[in-house]
Amino acid sequence: MVQSSLLEPLPSRKRVSVLLPLPFPCALDYAVPQSLADSLDPGDVVVVPLGGRRETGVVWEQTVLPVDLAPPPPPEIAASRLRPIKERLDLPPLSAELRQFIDWVAAYTLAPPGMVLAMALRSHLRGEQTAPAVGWVRIGEPPESLRMTPARRAVLDALPQGAPPVTMAELTEKAGVGVSVVRGLADAGVLKSMLMGPVSPFAEPDPFHNPPVLEGDQATAATELRARVDERAFSATLLEGVTGSGKTEIYLEAVAECLAQGRQALVLLPEIALSAQWMDRFARRFGVRPAVWHSEIGQKARRLTWAACEDGSATVIVGARSALFMPFRDLGLVIVDEEHEAVFKQEEGVTYNARDMAVVRARLAKAPIVLASATPSLETLNNVETGRYRHLVLTARHGGAAMPETHLIDMRENPPPRGLFLSPVLVEAVKTRLGRGEQAMLFLNRRGYAPLTLCRTCGHRMECPHCTSWLVEHRKKRVLACHYCEHTEPVPHACPTCGAEDSLTAIGPGIERITEEARSEFPDARIMVMASDTISGPAATAEAVGKISRREVDLIIGTQIVAKGWHFPHLTLVGVVDADLGLGGADLRAGERTMQLLHQVAGRAGRAEAPGEVLLQSFTPEHPVMQALVSGDFTAFMAEEADQRKPGFWPPFGRLAALIVSSENADAADNAARQLGVSAPYGNGIEVLGPVPAPIAVLRGRHRRRLLLRTHRNIAVQPILRRWLGQLTFTSTVRVDVDVDPISFM
Ligand code: ADP
Ligand code: ZN
Repeated sequence: MVQSSLLEPLPSRKRVSVLLPLPFPCALDYAVPQSLADSLDPGDVVVVPLGGRRETGVVWEQTVLPVDLAPPPPPEIAASRLRPIKERLDLPPLSAELRQFIDWVAAYTLAPPGMVLAMALRSHLRGEQTAPAVGWVRIGEPPESLRMTPARRAVLDALPQGAPPVTMAELTEKAGVGVSVVRGLADAGVLKSMLMGPVSPFAEPDPFHNPPVLEGDQATAATELRARVDERAFSATLLEGVTGSGKTEIYLEAVAECLAQGRQALVLLPEIALSAQWMDRFARRFGVRPAVWHSEIGQKARRLTWAACEDGSATVIVGARSALFMPFRDLGLVIVDEEHEAVFKQEEGVTYNARDMAVVRARLAKAPIVLASATPSLETLNNVETGRYRHLVLTARHGGAAMPETHLIDMRENPPPRGLFLSPVLVEAVKTRLGRGEQAMLFLNRRGYAPLTLCRTCGHRMECPHCTSWLVEHRKKRVLACHYCEHTEPVPHACPTCGAEDSLTAIGPGIERITEEARSEFPDARIMVMASDTISGPAATAEAVGKISRREVDLIIGTQIVAKGWHFPHLTLVGVVDADLGLGGADLRAGERTMQLLHQVAGRAGRAEAPGEVLLQSFTPEHPVMQALVSGDFTAFMAEEADQRKPGFWPPFGRLAALIVSSENADAADNAARQLGVSAPYGNGIEVLGPVPAPIAVLRGRHRRRLLLRTHRNIAVQPILRRWLGQLTFTSTVRVDVDVDPISFM
């Protein structure tokens, strides 16, 4: 017999969980004050007391996660000890879908859920007003006396008479010029600046604005993708096709379908800051530029974009990986372009792979996702093979453009002169192209002048005092710099060990050194150097790209930023200075990554009428990666990669999680690593490798040890990691970072 009093609701005291954007293991419980008793819902943004402070958080409720991922329930706290919520803020609540996604990412990566929430809330909570923006308008025609340079012409084309005001950033990016060009035109009375009113909401991309004519493979693929969007259900599709085959064109058709249905689309690009060309392309297709989301857009744009995504007025968001955490109202499509790119992996803070989490987000939103690449990752290919993903293939370049011919230069047979790095074969080829008025590119994925400075007398190597790494000489800036921390020091005159004068020698090339060599080999060429430290930010990049497109440059010398999806119609030769560069080291994907990077670089050549050529300088021309690049048989190469990874249960045939133990105290790091090693999990299909010193054994003054958990594919790493780490405590100087599905093994 149940006493009736037990069935009555509890007196008005109610409790809720509140997730704070702080590194706690779970949401905290708070009491609901009478004033909010009937009006508080999950997702509401509230202010709560925490110690002596006020913190802003979100009312949370337990998400139902797959059993492997679910964290253990938090300890129950007596109702009498709960502190009350202070107030509810007048902000839109976080949707159930976004809350689930946050819980999912936290559970998968083993990050504190509050830190994932922090990524999502960064823009939501900062309500401060910023100064009104300044915009530029056209007020006249250029006077006769003003010399019309191509750069000035580009600005005038970008800002016709009567066009609405645009910000300096927009204008310089659109025209591909520097700030000084705009200021010069203002001084000449052609442009003027004015205060803009509140920034207009995002103009709506028009799916019917300028559709392409599609035939063959392209038409089939576009129809397929449109059908996926129409299904309004989760599906994942790999869109594979060589560079220039029209992948972008095709996935924009899926975006068009999504827009036609009145839903929102998210497009993730690997380096959003570098993609003015992509934005223009979007504008040609849809009439307006999309809303953009990345770390450099500024606080005000961030707030507006966030709000517009939330209220549905921004229909297409193009962003870097953090755009995954935007508050979509009605997400109908997710695109990940260049899905194989390692930059989708965030290594700092919450360690997550945006490509993989995009699949999760799409699933939670019941929306299709499209992964596009010319060189898909083995993970994605495996998902195709096992039937989890669909597969669409574009086989040829659009408009009959040929793929560039790839040839190897065997550096053992055709070595450069002593102390130089360009083989006579490559030099000759560049000269020929330049002689014909075509553009050429030299690619070397290494910044600075030389990667190593060595004393010829005693053999001393200049190393970073805080990291296990050589200092890289940057001759223009006259410093030695560590590429792992911020340390720089002047280049010494004498060896710090033996004191010998003028004995320090630069060993090996960086792009500064290649530029020096190129200037002497090609004295008449107009050379542009493109590296992340010489060209920073979207405006500078757009300016550089603009110059190349206008043929104000003959020879481009660059690091990986030149490999991105640029379209350089006059570029016909790409020379890779050191094709073997990425193949050394402890990285399980070294071959795959080198292949992807070099294929991407090669794809810059011959995108228009003139056929392109790629020359690879290599000391190991017989290496399977080099052979695959020459034959272009990417599929066979990846099949070979798969065969090598299968027997050892390496991803994607098994799962990995790395533990990185670090401390400023080497002994403490060793002890903690040993503790982890001794208590390592074991069992059928579970294996722990290490602990070993990390390849970068000291980083920013912290000593680092690594362990690697490897399991068979059907065994989730998360519960194993939770149990393993949960039973240990370490001294406070020790940090243990968890990296599920590691990409970097440094
Ligand atoms: P990918 O993304 O595979 O590198 P793109 O979509 O960038 O290929 O296409 C390469 C070039 O060909 C672009 O300049 C694009 O505008 C053009 N292109 C591709 N397909 C078509 C088409 N059906 N009609 C017109 N231009 C196209
Ligand atoms: Zn360093």
